[in-house]
Amino acid sequence: METVDIAIIGGGPAGLTAALYAARARAKTVVFETGLPGGQIVTTDWVENYPGFPEGLSGAELADLMHKQAERFGAEFRTFAQVERVEPVDLDFKLTVEGEDILARVVILATGAVPKKLGVPGEAEFTGRGVSWCATCDGALFRDKTVAIIGGGDAAIEEAIFLTKFASRVHIVHRRDELRATKCIQERCFENEKIELHWSRVVKEVKGENGKVTGIELAATNDDPDEFLPLDGIFIFVGIDATSGLVSDLCDLDERGFVQTDHNGLTSYPGLYAAGDVTDSELKQVVTAAAKGASAAFEALRYLDNRLCSI
Ligand code: NAP
Repeated sequence: METVDIAIIGGGPAGLTAALYAARARAKTVVFETGLPGGQIVTTDWVENYPGFPEGLSGAELADLMHKQAERFGAEFRTFAQVERVEPVDLDFKLTVEGEDILARVVILATGAVPKKLGVPGEAEFTGRGVSWCATCDGALFRDKTVAIIGGGDAAIEEAIFLTKFASRVHIVHRRDELRATKCIQERCFENEKIELHWSRVVKEVKGENGKVTGIELAATNDDPDEFLPLDGIFIFVGIDATSGLVSDLCDLDERGFVQTDHNGLTSYPGLYAAGDVTDSELKQVVTAAAKGASAAFEALRYLDNRLCSI
């Protein structure tokens, strides 16, 4: 069976940074990624809060640079490779990847998170027919059209601003009367004349005709009456769910399904580390994912050294 020192599952900023640190320490490091390296930042139009890039850069560009840097030091990448199972074998882990078994001395889980669904009628039916979770991917389809963004966090407000490049009108529907997004992002949103805010509203139903979205039925969270908002598209940014299923039987998760780690990235299972959006860390940013990836790799390397010394 193929044996690696450090298997990193997930190729977003946490996984790519863990790979950089592990490979520089000359550990045999393999990153398994279901798509291309980059993770969620690839779908982010512009990253302006990653230090060292005063003008900002596109998420895809940042991912590409991180990938090249890790590869330059010898990290190996298996792209479009789904890890189906992680199973402890003595002190190691057996990974089943596309039906093949690989033995890893240490695993760093960096599988990230996926956007949450609203769970309302019409959402599933009209996904890809006007309902989207990716403004960077689908924004250009809504040139001179009317769209709504659901949510009031960083993702929702940043993507609403991005969508004003294409859409003639961008409605933001938020369930409270105050946004959660970072203040400087809020300021840009309030200044943008194409954006209209609908406070204290939740989506009751996504409506459509002939296989296309025609609008959303909104219910008020205050005493206002329900209303119908005519639309061509709807973008949903109501938070994220951890992609922690691979290890849910192995280590402790918090009540929302995020992997619990100590401050060095160690989970409750020896030899299993986690970093980035899949963990229960409060601040979910590219810079924190990268930092946690570095810590997890550093601790994983120390654990490996201690294991070798005690043989
Ligand atoms: P988030 O910060 O959890 O915000 C989710 C938003 O959706 C909140 O405004 C929430 O309302 C609303 N919401 C949740 N469930 C809802 C429902 N069922 N119906 C209607 N609205 C609902 O999630 P996020 O914006 O996806 O961000 C995730 C993490 O990534 C955060 O830590 C964020 O800071 C980070 N991030 C950072 C950047 C950046 O720094 N540039 C960009 C994107 C994301 P309430 O406010 O009422 O709870």
